[in-house]
Amino acid sequence: MQLTQAAFWEFVHVLPNPKQTVGTFWFDRVHDGCWMWTGSRDGKGYGRWGGVGAHRVADEYARGPIPEGMVIDHLCANSLCVNPLHMEVVTKGENTRRRRRGRNIPTEWMAARR
Ligand SMILES: [Zn+2]
Repeated sequence: MQLTQAAFWEFVHVLPNPKQTVGTFWFDRVHDGCWMWTGSRDGKGYGRWGGVGAHRVADEYARGPIPEGMVIDHLCANSLCVNPLHMEVVTKGENTRRRRRGRNIPTEWMAARR
């Protein structure tokens, strides 16, 4: 399979309902539903694409290269989400500090994928 941008988006399932992204402090910054990655995953629950994180790939497609040493924070706290609007490029220290919020993968969506 070719690692083209068109092929990448084939693995993305857009959740149309913003209410499927629920219950986080950052909700006011999230204007639409999560874009769920349906391809392969790593051991931590992040999507993988061409050996790197699918969320990083999506962010680079949308906003250009991620600066050296920076990481992506999911504002929706959903590690499978690849919606660029739900991600923010932050330092590793900031990301660790924010991680205390925990995860928030929509349970209905996860149930449907089993
Ligand atoms: Zn999201």
